[in-house]
Amino acid sequence: MNQVWEFGSISTTKYRREALFLSVIVPIYNEEESIPILCEKLFGVLDRMGKTFEIICINDGSSDASLTALRKVAAQRKELKVVSFRRNFGQTAAMMAGIDHAEGEIIVSIDADLQNDPEDIPTLLSKMEEGFDVVSGWRKDRQDAPVRRNFVSRVANKVISRISGVRLHDYGCTLKAYRHDVVKDVRLYGEMHRFIPIYASWMGARVCELPVRHHARKFGRSKYGLERIAKVILDLVVVKFLDRYLAKPIYVFGGFGLLSLILSIVSGLLMIWLKLFDGISMIQTPLPLFSAMTFLVSVQCVLMGLVAEIVVRTYFEARDRRVYSVRETINFGER
Ligand code: UDP
Ligand code: MG
Repeated sequence: MNQVWEFGSISTTKYRREALFLSVIVPIYNEEESIPILCEKLFGVLDRMGKTFEIICINDGSSDASLTALRKVAAQRKELKVVSFRRNFGQTAAMMAGIDHAEGEIIVSIDADLQNDPEDIPTLLSKMEEGFDVVSGWRKDRQDAPVRRNFVSRVANKVISRISGVRLHDYGCTLKAYRHDVVKDVRLYGEMHRFIPIYASWMGARVCELPVRHHARKFGRSKYGLERIAKVILDLVVVKFLDRYLAKPIYVFGGFGLLSLILSIVSGLLMIWLKLFDGISMIQTPLPLFSAMTFLVSVQCVLMGLVAEIVVRTYFEARDRRVYSVRETINFGER
């Protein structure tokens, strides 16, 4: 299953001015009340750690005074950097922008609404030091609506865990730590930010989980409803498909095509058998129609598979992508 999709670009590593240890990325959509408290807590924790850091806040098109609140803090502390979107693009896009702008060796993502606790960051980092590439927070004692949020998400997490084969309890927790190399080439769409540990694990990264604190929301409202579950499951299907078959779509389409062709032949033979041996007229059964239909479907599937192959070749070749991903090379020199 190691065909690469978005990881495989041979992108040049971003030039880093000075070795920065940590980038904390915070997606923000209408969190004006939380921002001052969050920044105070974050700076408290990070200053205490005594390592170099930056905090990147992504203002995802907030319509309240979030940006003003961020400007105020940024004027006092240069470590606080702000990327402000023109409109609301969603949490995944915000996380993507955070990753794109981050210069730290390690990236930690955290919610702006104070539901995650900045005090957990040092624990995540010490877990990273044990040699993990991704440490994912697990809101073991989750403080959201019991049935509508917690129960539903527990079921969704089980499904995701089963489909992806990456055993985590809580994909949705924003509080996670990643090694920069593991995420720098990842491209996220839809609701996919929660699947970063899954891609990373598929690509050979060492992933682990750590229980973290979770608090009830004090200010503002959650930006999500139940429709998110459907989106997340659909995204997972896409991720799984792309991971397995992006480089060989004909296997999926062709597979369905062959299956359909077999059905067509079997129903055709059955039709002839019934006519010859039982004297049942062909048009007394739905078999002729079924056989013709499945035959057409099989031809269509194979043709679609061929078209998909052409599309995929354009995808890989136009952007210099590779179907593999290299962890390191030895004695190749600087390239
Ligand atoms: N968020 C965002 N853009 C959006 C929706 C949410 O940047 O379109 C941010 C939000 O400000 C918060 C984080 O993503 O910092 C998680 O959102 P929320 O707390 O609403 O999710 P929940 O905790 O309810 O799952
Ligand atoms: Mg929240």
